[in-house]
Amino acid sequence: MSSDAPQIIKRACSVVPPTRQLVLQGSKRSNQQQCGGGGGGGGAVVYWMFRDQRVRDNWALIHAVDQANHFKVPVVVAFNLFDQFLGAKARQLGFMLRGLQELQCSLMETLQIPFFLFQGEAVETIPDFLRECGASLLVTDFSPLREVRKWKEEICSRVGDSVAVHEVDAHNVVPLWVASQKLEYSARTLRGKINKLLPEYLFDYPKITSPQMKWEGETPVIDWEGLIADVSRKGAEVPEVGWCEPGETAAMEVLLGSKDGFLTKRLKNYSSDRNNPLKPKGLSCLSPYLHFGQISAQRCALEARNLRKLHTQSVDAFLEELIVRRELSDNFCYYQPHYDSLLGAWEWARKTLMDHAGDKREHVYTKEQLESAKTFDPLWNASQLEMVHHGKMHGFMRQLLMYWAKKILEWTTGPEEALSIAIYLNDKYELDGRDPSGYVGCMWSICGVHDQGWRERPVFGKIRYMNYEGCKRKFDVDGYLAHVKRLVNGSKKRKGEGIAGEAVKESRRSES
Ligand SMILES: Cc1cc2nc3c(=O)[nH]c(=O)nc-3n(C[C@H](O)[C@H](O)[C@H](O)COP(=O)(O)OP(=O)(O)OC[C@H]3O[C@@H](n4cnc5c(N)ncnc54)[C@H](O)[C@@H]3O)c2cc1C
Repeated sequence: MSSDAPQIIKRACSVVPPTRQLVLQGSKRSNQQQCGGGGGGGGAVVYWMFRDQRVRDNWALIHAVDQANHFKVPVVVAFNLFDQFLGAKARQLGFMLRGLQELQCSLMETLQIPFFLFQGEAVETIPDFLRECGASLLVTDFSPLREVRKWKEEICSRVGDSVAVHEVDAHNVVPLWVASQKLEYSARTLRGKINKLLPEYLFDYPKITSPQMKWEGETPVIDWEGLIADVSRKGAEVPEVGWCEPGETAAMEVLLGSKDGFLTKRLKNYSSDRNNPLKPKGLSCLSPYLHFGQISAQRCALEARNLRKLHTQSVDAFLEELIVRRELSDNFCYYQPHYDSLLGAWEWARKTLMDHAGDKREHVYTKEQLESAKTFDPLWNASQLEMVHHGKMHGFMRQLLMYWAKKILEWTTGPEEALSIAIYLNDKYELDGRDPSGYVGCMWSICGVHDQGWRERPVFGKIRYMNYEGCKRKFDVDGYLAHVKRLVNGSKKRKGEGIAGEAVKESRRSES
């Protein structure tokens, strides 16, 4: 990457708001072009898709097509499948690949854009591909995670001045670098900034049409079934789940479907049902789609906003989670290099946790005991099993009560260990794991990030506390235990039958 800080693209001719795009690297060739920072060396524009895996409502794809039309070159989409990415297993990789399989068809059918899939290290496959097709512009989507930022830096240095690199924030409603230029203290400090900017950013997407210049090279044939079988075998320890159908079409169905869509059928009770762990569909269930970029948060927000007059409380609660909380997580991971370590906690929280690190714990469990849900507490075990077998712990246990992660703090030898176990379990079993919201969720529950200090007590210090009795007062704990037991039995039965290929589809039908 060039030594200068990334620049916002100033290009009056762009259909994408200029503040949504950063030039990570300019190209020597492009500097001679009339629109600063663009490509235009003759080869294709390559969009390296990473976080926003969709055709519809995708600012990065819109930008790639716009640039290609401007320079009269074709566009291709490239995706790199890593051998390992933050411990993802069959559950997450199967979901992602099935979504990409649909994406490849719809890219070609609707826009005549080819989709290339590479396997290995992106820092090698992407520069090689850029060279092969003589590209002079690489467009990427945005992620605040350190691994992805490192790869981008490396790719920029490998391709040198011959290729311009543009990064487009296609994930956040308000582009991260516009919403705030610093680490925000809490939702309270970010909310006002975002709300002020929403009129400028929360509008419908321009229509995207097929690029003027068509790709004339070979169109790749991808062995999707082989790839899915491979990740299913290698990541069999955490198999796919049946209840959440992957892909853009399914995502739109979950948002707006006439049968059981969130906004069409479930929104009116969102503000109350989200507090009932016996109702998994009380929440939107959009997080897997948002995580893999199979749906755009901006689309969800636009559609929800249209219903605000009818269901004001529910829409406001949903938009608070979808925009403010989600974008606060990106803010934290982008501006706090230690976003998944105790070093990333505020000074007061670090101090209080360290002051109490040596406190006697009534129960201490190992990672293995926690992973296999072998604690004395049936409620905690149930939430862990819900995550292991269902792939999504109910938001009430995970987020609103923070019971699951808080107990890990209480039952391990210290805050560093608690945090690393919580992140390990969350990333391994949650379908939406390895997300900024996951790192921040764990940091929030265990290290008080985005929270305030509370009454001091053993082990927790001033970190907010939650106990079993508190849960019992808030919901039907026995009902939840029975609900999770049914989920686990169903999942074990399917595992015994071998959950792959057709079996996943079949279980999807029976679970929906
Ligand atoms: C310990 C812990 C771990 C978490 N791990 C993850 C994770 O791995 N992946 C993940 O996407 N979220 C995670 N969260 C945040 C939150 O629990 C989930 O986003 C939410 O439960 C997803 O379910 P939903 O889409 O049905 O939620 P809804 O209530 O319908 O919310 C709609 C959307 O708003 C966003 N959202 C909701 N709550 C939060 C929040 N607290 N922070 C940031 N964004 C939010 C999500 O994108 C969500 O899909 C975690 C929270 C905690 C406390």
